[in-house]
Amino acid sequence: MIQPVARTVPVLIVGGGSAGISVAARLARALPAGSVTVVDPAQDHYYQPLWTLVGGGDATRESTRRREADVIPAGVQWIQQGVREFLPDEDQVILSNGERLGYEQLVVALGIQLDWEKIPGLTEALGKDGVCSNYSWETVESTWRFIQAFQGGSAHFTHPNTPIKCGGAPQKIMYLAAEHWEKRGVKQPYDVRFRIASPKIFAVERYAQTLLEVVARHKIDVAYQRDLVALRAASKEAVYKDLVTGAEVIERYEFMHVTPPMSAPDVIKQSPLAASTGWVEVDKGTTQHVRYPNVFSLGDCSNLPTSKTGAAIRKQAPTTAQNILDVRAGRKPSALYNGYTSCPLVTGYGKLVLAEFDYDGKAQETFPFDQSKERWSMYQLKKRLLPVFYWSGMLKGRA
Ligand code: FAD
Repeated sequence: MIQPVARTVPVLIVGGGSAGISVAARLARALPAGSVTVVDPAQDHYYQPLWTLVGGGDATRESTRRREADVIPAGVQWIQQGVREFLPDEDQVILSNGERLGYEQLVVALGIQLDWEKIPGLTEALGKDGVCSNYSWETVESTWRFIQAFQGGSAHFTHPNTPIKCGGAPQKIMYLAAEHWEKRGVKQPYDVRFRIASPKIFAVERYAQTLLEVVARHKIDVAYQRDLVALRAASKEAVYKDLVTGAEVIERYEFMHVTPPMSAPDVIKQSPLAASTGWVEVDKGTTQHVRYPNVFSLGDCSNLPTSKTGAAIRKQAPTTAQNILDVRAGRKPSALYNGYTSCPLVTGYGKLVLAEFDYDGKAQETFPFDQSKERWSMYQLKKRLLPVFYWSGMLKGRA
């Protein structure tokens, strides 16, 4: 039996990160005040793309944070709670305080879950003795601390065997660290190792070629299909699995930058909204759920088969917003997303390859020059312009 709800809202957006706020801003402009509600328990909102430069000592952690209250668009109601359960057959969600909330349309934008605990020994080791990660607000400052403290030995950078947000980020920090250590002239013998679970350095060949040149420039030792499965901090040993042979490979480290395994948030995995992979199962063009037409999803938690980035969300958000307006007006969704994503591949201080491509891996480049080459101007774009563009354009529903 369907339970009564305390209240029903017209459009409910769960998750007030990059995706949720971008859609909220667009809908708030198009619908009467009070039509849009965002549910998110967070106190703060982060511009995560800059964490690469925070880890590399070229941006401050504080510059990446705003109060969540300050990014909620005018006219949007914010409920500072988490979603505990989805009940799409009843058009309801259950909040962490137990309240049932009804909706006419739902947008699921919960981001990705970092599964640190899937690597035994990692959680305890993080932030100590050279073990760091750019992947969270709590750990990102330890990266720059340990890069500065590195005096020799093996420096490891890992890329896990799961989908991750920003597929280039595990190696961007490696290129910054390698350049820093060369400039500093680290005296002891040392080597830089990239341990990547995929068989290729980057999915799109055009950009992979340039990355392989950067790898060669820094004499980085790359092992493909090698997945970090445990960390023994006491003996400074990393346990890897060779994904081809299944063999265990143990390597000593002095510095370890970990990109943790990631998956869809558990609350989605356990819900009827999930595909068999755990992500919210939406149509790859319209972002509309394949079984629940009044549900949409975008961003990292969706199963849109593209690289999970904020840049992808910039193109998904107008599609989702337009299609919700269509459904509310009794029309079929009219807007289509083509899979556009972008990865600003930092290859050193003042050097960046701006990868932009669609669902087919076809280049969708913005500028009238060869973006597969490293450029100083593109680094400045990432460091100085894109953050302004994010806070003042994308989150306002204007870009
Ligand atoms: P998020 O922005 O993570 O937001 C998810 C929101 O959901 C959060 O506010 C959270 O509090 C909320 N939430 C979670 N669970 C619940 C719940 N149960 N109930 C309610 N709310 C909940 N992208 C780029 O485009 N370019 C880059 O160069 C780039 N570099 C990156 C480098 C790093 C180190 C990292 C970590 C990311 C990078 N990204 C980059 C990726 C980009 O930041 C993400 O793809 C983007 O933030 C995803 O947006 P989202 O809204 O899906 O998730």
